[in-house]
Amino acid sequence: MRKKVVIIGAGASGLLCAIFCAKASCHVEIYEQNSKPAKKILVSGNGRCNITNRDITPNDFFSDNASFVKEALDNFGFDEFEKFASSIGLMLDVKEDGRAYPLSNEAKSVAKLLEEYAKSLGVIFHTDTKITDIKKLLQDYDKVVIATGSEAASHLGGNRDGYEFAKEYGHSIVPTYPSLVQLHLDSSIAHKMSGAKIDGEVTLLINHKNDSTCKGDILFTNYGVSGFAILDISQRASVALMNFEHVAISVNLLPDFTAQKLSAHISKLAQTIPKFSVLDILVGLIPLKIAQSLLDDLKISHDTEAKEVHTKLSKKIANQILNWRFEVTDTHGFRHAEVSGGGVDTSEINPKTMESLKQINLYFCGEVLDVVGRRGGYNFAFAWASGYAAAKDINR
Ligand SMILES: Cc1cc2nc3c(=O)[nH]c(=O)nc-3n(C[C@H](O)[C@H](O)[C@H](O)COP(=O)(O)OP(=O)(O)OC[C@H]3O[C@@H](n4cnc5c(N)ncnc54)[C@H](O)[C@@H]3O)c2cc1C
Repeated sequence: MRKKVVIIGAGASGLLCAIFCAKASCHVEIYEQNSKPAKKILVSGNGRCNITNRDITPNDFFSDNASFVKEALDNFGFDEFEKFASSIGLMLDVKEDGRAYPLSNEAKSVAKLLEEYAKSLGVIFHTDTKITDIKKLLQDYDKVVIATGSEAASHLGGNRDGYEFAKEYGHSIVPTYPSLVQLHLDSSIAHKMSGAKIDGEVTLLINHKNDSTCKGDILFTNYGVSGFAILDISQRASVALMNFEHVAISVNLLPDFTAQKLSAHISKLAQTIPKFSVLDILVGLIPLKIAQSLLDDLKISHDTEAKEVHTKLSKKIANQILNWRFEVTDTHGFRHAEVSGGGVDTSEINPKTMESLKQINLYFCGEVLDVVGRRGGYNFAFAWASGYAAAKDINR
């Protein structure tokens, strides 16, 4: 008798689990509420899919149960994933910093190959079908895998279904929060800079203390800030906001300058070209829109003549360029988040098999669990590893 396996969710973890179950001759059916599988894979990495990372450690993940990811990643980490990918013709391009992308540079190839390979192994896809009754599935199949993902990005299928299914079997849900997400700022000045982008550095301040610093692009928007540097600090900012802590950011527009070097540069230019306005001095350093807003924030007229820019004023401007503070009021929400932190409490899941410790034959894999990774391919890395762990146990 072939084992009958049903998987809810044809995302990254569900597809990988389906493939390894089918390879071991299980009868596999996969239910997907969307009209197509793998919607998140298709948009991931700006259409390029940062598929995994060569350097993966448990420190790249956040969970209430920090060691949970270790076993799954030890068994199906980068090397095992690369071997599997190449076995289906999905070649990887591993960048110097460890991030891996499909060689085709297209997320489409990842989604297509996983779906086609699963189909070639006989996996039956039921698309446009939303599962609502989990209890019935446990009666009809030998094994049930919940791979429904998180509530991040609802337009791509994100929802809380997996948590509701888990609760039916007595599982606890660690409070969820948006991660890898843009931030809202309490600053009309920041909103005026909408569209302006710099390659800078951002420091997160929680309860007025420096928490973490990330480098990368920072994009001002009509609600606050976006960009890679912001996404990178967003997990900790989101948790702090959820805990009602005071959250602020300090933006450094020119991280390669010291305060002394920058104020000396401003003073020197002001002396050399006294006919310049203070704005003329700044536009050689930072984008115009940002320079205008920075001066507005300091209540300095844009037309102030360079000759009036004395040492004290140079220092004031330099300090603002290197340490411009904004209060953070909120994240941009689950809809815009790439991932969600929190989820099914992993202390109630077997870390080796992903099976529920509350209900035999019920498995959870992927983002539905209380595991969220840093930016850099880590979220897919855990989706693959946890999907594989569940399949391995199902095939026992
Ligand atoms: C814009 C964006 C970019 C991203 N880029 C990257 C990246 O480059 N690298 C990276 O590592 N991670 C990235 N991520 C995160 C990554 O996509 C997720 O971590 C990963 O897809 C999680 O896999 P999963 O299988 O757990 O869930 P998902 O991929 O979300 O799959 C869950 C599936 O379950 C379906 N489903 C839910 N409920 C039901 C139900 N009741 N019945 C039937 N079907 C249901 C959903 O429609 C969905 O298709 C990105 C995410 C987003 C939104």
